[in-house]
Amino acid sequence: MERVLQKMRPSTASIQALILALVVAGAASQVTGQAGTGQTVIQKATEQFENNPLKTTVLGQGLFMFSGDGGDVTAIVDNGSTLLIDSGMDTRVTELSDAIFKAAMRPVTSLVNTHWHFDHTGGNVFFGSAGVTIIAQENVKKRLSSVQSVPFVGLRDGHYPQEALPTVTYSSSMTLHQGPQQLILVNYGPAHTDGDTVVYVSAANVAVVGDIFSNHFYPIIDLASGGSIDGLIHSLDEILARTDEQTKIVPGHGPVATRADLEEYRDMLVQVRQRIMDLIAAGKTIDEAVAAAPTKQFDAKWGSGYVPPNVFTKMVFSSLTYGGSASR
Ligand SMILES: [Zn+2]
Repeated sequence: MERVLQKMRPSTASIQALILALVVAGAASQVTGQAGTGQTVIQKATEQFENNPLKTTVLGQGLFMFSGDGGDVTAIVDNGSTLLIDSGMDTRVTELSDAIFKAAMRPVTSLVNTHWHFDHTGGNVFFGSAGVTIIAQENVKKRLSSVQSVPFVGLRDGHYPQEALPTVTYSSSMTLHQGPQQLILVNYGPAHTDGDTVVYVSAANVAVVGDIFSNHFYPIIDLASGGSIDGLIHSLDEILARTDEQTKIVPGHGPVATRADLEEYRDMLVQVRQRIMDLIAAGKTIDEAVAAAPTKQFDAKWGSGYVPPNVFTKMVFSSLTYGGSASR
């Protein structure tokens, strides 16, 4: 059971309410996503996504990345059309659409969602209403079709209107073509959520990995949507096995990264997981685990994003105990 403070973002009034869960009862009260300033993780992130300047990065011939307006958005352009990966924040979709047209000069005809979160699907209504085909892993459609709650970070969202929902879905893998590029969409099982898609753009040697990796912040592990620390590490191992030193990694947030960045991130997750496992084995409670500062060594590099070290520690702890993989 949870008590929530309802707060409608004016811009989303036409879609659905984003309700910020500030107080969560029961076991989950220990893992409420306070970012340290009285704000939830989602409040802090939303503030950034609504105010950061929109930046266009050229990834290669006919390949662009747009960042700042929520999750990173990738555009792949052929002679007559543009395929998008993710759609950013609903509040900034007109600005995004203008930037895409300026860079690509071709209309958007398809959109792949890497997962269901609002900062990656916020533009779905805009593009879906214009007849763009929306493609995603099948669990994204399920989650966007119903109300979702992520108490860890203070997110409540959905359901999305019909035109924002994926019309093409897949289970574990799917191949698309866009001009000279072959796109292989893969889901490696639950990781950040239960509907994550990694897109390998093969001719260009680009891997778009969504929120499995943010460059360089501690990740949100969305346990309420089936995510887990073990699944996250598993997906990273699969991505590392399929990429090379030249691969450009497009993260869910932040600048383009290399495979070495992804490897460092994976090693950080493995070490934090082990330290928290040791604390669990020693009988520590979640608060005692936070007090033991198991992420301390990594905080300078990874802890300055909207997921602070204490929230990250709680998510990993929960993923390994009652909220996650160890209890399944
Ligand atoms: Zn996400």
